[in-house]
Amino acid sequence: MLDLTYEAPKPKVIAGAKGDWELVIGLEVHAQVATKAKLFSGASTQFGAEPNSNVAFVDAGMPGMLPVINEGCVAQAVRTGLGLKAEINLWSAFDRKNYFYPDLPQGYQISQLYHPIVGEGEVLVEMGDGKARLVRIERIHLEQDAGKSIHDMDPNMSFVDLNRTGVALMEIVSRPDIRGPEEAAGYVGKLRQIMRYLGTCDGNMQNGNLRADVNVSVCKPGDYEKFMETGDFGVLGTRCEIKNMNSMRFIQAAIDYEARRQIAIIEDGGSIVQETRLYDPDKNETRSMRSKEEAHDYRYFPDPDLLPLEIEQAWVDDIAASLPELPDEKKARFINDMGLSDYDASVLTAEVANANFFEKVAEGRDGKLSANWVINELFGRLKKDDKGIEDSPVSPEQLGKIVGLISKGDISGKIAKDLFEIVYTEGGDPEALVEERGMKQVTDTGAIETAVDEVIAANPAQVEKAKQNPKLAGWFVGQVMKATGGKANPAAVNQIVAQKLGI
Ligand code: ADP
Ligand code: MG
Repeated sequence: MLDLTYEAPKPKVIAGAKGDWELVIGLEVHAQVATKAKLFSGASTQFGAEPNSNVAFVDAGMPGMLPVINEGCVAQAVRTGLGLKAEINLWSAFDRKNYFYPDLPQGYQISQLYHPIVGEGEVLVEMGDGKARLVRIERIHLEQDAGKSIHDMDPNMSFVDLNRTGVALMEIVSRPDIRGPEEAAGYVGKLRQIMRYLGTCDGNMQNGNLRADVNVSVCKPGDYEKFMETGDFGVLGTRCEIKNMNSMRFIQAAIDYEARRQIAIIEDGGSIVQETRLYDPDKNETRSMRSKEEAHDYRYFPDPDLLPLEIEQAWVDDIAASLPELPDEKKARFINDMGLSDYDASVLTAEVANANFFEKVAEGRDGKLSANWVINELFGRLKKDDKGIEDSPVSPEQLGKIVGLISKGDISGKIAKDLFEIVYTEGGDPEALVEERGMKQVTDTGAIETAVDEVIAANPAQVEKAKQNPKLAGWFVGQVMKATGGKANPAAVNQIVAQKLGI
């Protein structure tokens, strides 16, 4: 049974020169909302469009332009909140965060500081041992993304592309429940997986679709438990924030580096200054970007251009009713109802497209056998051709028929691999192919007996040896399989060989 119950977070312990240290991590994940239009304008969000072609007047910060909220973005934030088992706030509001950025022409970012649309939720992070760790979500708010400044196209000039300006982001803020680099990567991976199931974020980290600000501090053993009891952040160490991480690998490396840097400073008698840092993957180190003292005063205030956002419970209920089966439930069902291992169920539920493909293959068939064929044969073959499941030349119906033929004993596992290759490269109906090409397994014991008799008659010396050493029976089985072109039922051959040799 899959145990998705909460397990106490397991801190990564780093041994310093003067004793052990534990890590405390909280993440602010920025997820680009999957919608056609921006948060407050009708401009397209299409990735890779001609620079500055997806820019409405409001995105360009033209005087007098008014933002108009995109209902689709609100629905996606609510959907994400529901998928993270979070509280949905029927009343929320937008605030202005004032700062100058060349790629945000308004001069401020519209965000939700005081009244976010989504409140407390939770995510179960699996660590590959069948157990899950609970990471609590503090809030999710909607905000605008900035554009992109390009400094490396010309030696003398910088360029700006406003296509991304004003695209909707969901900022998902976790509690400081994450205790190590692997848990942090696992958490981001789980958020990505859930949002891809929900269709609320594409989760393409390379395109900057999903990025994380990683807050790291270190404390002594026992301090975290005190924090959990009292909720007092004062018992934890001072944190540093590593901005804009868009790779799972770098997130882990940056946390590890940052924790060790902090430990070295504290053990040296110094103290940690709360600051924002940047990770440099080439040097594998974090560097100070700005300290708390020089932090901007954002002068947050309610955006006077936007009314508070009020939504109705009935609308939220409609969205809730349209949620798909989510990864945790799907995985539990694959394990408990279909007999899959934790590992197989994880592989098959990683992407919803894989899970759907598998379910069609397994419909009315053996779950474990279907999982083996999807994971080992199909995924292996697709990987060789650098193809995704959506480009699979073998359909779920075709693969299902191959699995069915094996279960019925019509073809052996070995012949099934040949058949799979034929279907993969040439197409065709597996059942018809087996008939046409004479691939059916010989289960007719009479035919097998004849073949066994022939092999025995032709090899008297081997027969004597096998009688002394029954392990040599395998050689006869091999000869019979060869003589029948691999089509004899191996179980029947084994049995008849043993019987005829009298071993
Ligand atoms: P800010 O907006 O200044 O970054 P937030 O209150 O939004 O502050 O917190 C940012 C993140 O920092 C949250 O994910 C929170 O869990 C995390 N965090 C807070 N204190 C610590 C700490 N001592 N160590 C690690 N992470 C922390
Ligand atoms: Mg922050």
